[in-house]
Amino acid sequence: MTQRDWIEKDFYRELGVASGASADEIKKAYRKLARELHPDANPGDATAENRFKAVSEAYGVLSDPEKRREYDETRALFAGGRVPGGAGFPGGFGAGGQTFDLGDLFGGAGGGGGLGDILGNVFAGAGGRPGAARAGSRAQRGADVESELTLDFDQAVRGAEVPIRLSSPGRCERCGGTGAKPGSTPRQCPTCDGVGLVSRSQGAFAFSEPCRDCRGTGRIIDDPCPECGGDGVSTRTRSLTVRVPAGVDDGQRIRLPAQGEPGRGGAPAGDLYVKVHVTPHRLFGRSERNADDLTLTVPVTFQELALGSTLTVPTLDSTVSLRIPAGTASGRTFRVRGRGVHRKDGRTGDLLVTVEVAVPNRLDDAAQEALQAYAEATKSFDPRAELLGGARR
Ligand SMILES: [Zn+2]
Ligand SMILES: [Zn+2]
Repeated sequence: MTQRDWIEKDFYRELGVASGASADEIKKAYRKLARELHPDANPGDATAENRFKAVSEAYGVLSDPEKRREYDETRALFAGGRVPGGAGFPGGFGAGGQTFDLGDLFGGAGGGGGLGDILGNVFAGAGGRPGAARAGSRAQRGADVESELTLDFDQAVRGAEVPIRLSSPGRCERCGGTGAKPGSTPRQCPTCDGVGLVSRSQGAFAFSEPCRDCRGTGRIIDDPCPECGGDGVSTRTRSLTVRVPAGVDDGQRIRLPAQGEPGRGGAPAGDLYVKVHVTPHRLFGRSERNADDLTLTVPVTFQELALGSTLTVPTLDSTVSLRIPAGTASGRTFRVRGRGVHRKDGRTGDLLVTVEVAVPNRLDDAAQEALQAYAEATKSFDPRAELLGGARR
């Protein structure tokens, strides 16, 4: 990872913590996400795997006080508007390895100590995405949440109000997020004095490493909360009603604004996206050309097609009479107007009825005789005349 990536990434958002989060909060958020997203827990799920990598990367920076300080400073520079944001960095940022001239930018020589070092690192990498700098900000819109919903065919066609239950992680209400059993409080870790880190010297170098006694949290919980097991985070379940518009199709997503995760720092909540699965109907389908049209295949007898007839055909809510003219071909589709999807905006689909000859698998003697007589009477009708004529040409 190059530090140039830092201006494009929001590690706090990745971990779902505020930019002022304590080391403890960051660690907790990471542990929880790492558990949920771990490839072992999500075999074959590429999205989870990518999130897992992103979360690990974010934690790698934010858990290291020195790196975190640099990251914050880098982001603050861009958020402060001292460097042109968005597209069009002068000096060809993103155009492939050109180095940014700090002197020009800050109107002075050198750019000034640590600042220059940070920016120097930021722009030192080659390649990268053009102009994708995203300024960091305190307020953060909540994350979008995805959910799924299975509907009957009827519900999808007609529209419905469907209650769903959503589970999402939130502060444990039992312990108020402290992780300690109600009535008790966590005590400060005596080993690290509540910092969560201990210093270790090795030759000329001093290392900070997570305190083993408190696992980097800075606190010791003698009596963990029975609800969340000491994490301070538990799964919250809420119920809401999804208004499914008439005509929704399998695989479509319904957006519920502001029903996602709550925003931070007064920012708006994310959205909830509900992916719809539609159970196929025993009789009806949706037209591939226009999903507002319903399809239905109706078995008919040969004589109904040949002589013409009036069929009683089911629709989604009742039945309809369909007149078949004499001499109708098997496989022909009739359009029954207005018996498809009725959308809220007034658009209406049709019912497409396809007739298909059903052949009896057994005929008694009388029926066989009648058919032989029929064959004799219609000898001049050769349905394959054109087909064989075409083959000879
Ligand atoms: Zn400790
Ligand atoms: Zn709890």
